[in-house]
Amino acid sequence: MKFKRKLYPPKNHGVIRSSGKKEIDLRSNFQSIIFGDGETLPHGKKILLRVFRLDSNRKRIKCTCLSDLSLEPSDECKFCLGEGYFWDEHWKDSYCSYVGADGGLSNRTRMLKPGEIRTDYKVFYFEHSEEIKYCDKIIEVKLDSEGQPVVPYVIETIYKPETISVNRSDYGRAEYISAYCKEQDSIREDY
Ligand SMILES: [Zn+2]
Repeated sequence: MKFKRKLYPPKNHGVIRSSGKKEIDLRSNFQSIIFGDGETLPHGKKILLRVFRLDSNRKRIKCTCLSDLSLEPSDECKFCLGEGYFWDEHWKDSYCSYVGADGGLSNRTRMLKPGEIRTDYKVFYFEHSEEIKYCDKIIEVKLDSEGQPVVPYVIETIYKPETISVNRSDYGRAEYISAYCKEQDSIREDY
């Protein structure tokens, strides 16, 4: 089967060093894969990033529904949707994949030995400039078969980053961001 269009950035998508040697420009290749570049199709998918507002001490700003005594939010709160803190949501393009210590999802049907715990992770990759925080949440919404969010929006899964890794390369500059989320800690919305 032959593709008529280019699936991935062309091989010469690199930077020329002073030595004349050509090297991969990871940041630019990553951006081409996620957003497309005219020659390459965009491979990212739409997700929502729930960004929590911080005060001047970099603490989350409490919603008025959060009880001072129990520190429990109200599930019915229309402002924070039960988070207890104020947030804003932004559409982002991301690429994600599953990783697992035992080979990931392909081994999910395998029986575990007593005492073993299966930890599947979902990794979301973001552009180098994304300022994702540990208190933020990554939300997968229902997409149609062409990749567009179904309207009205339907939340499918809410993830909380467990490890955020800024992947650096050229002179230590950030090339792209990985956010590792534990699959078993994710919240599936019932609807
Ligand atoms: Zn609230």
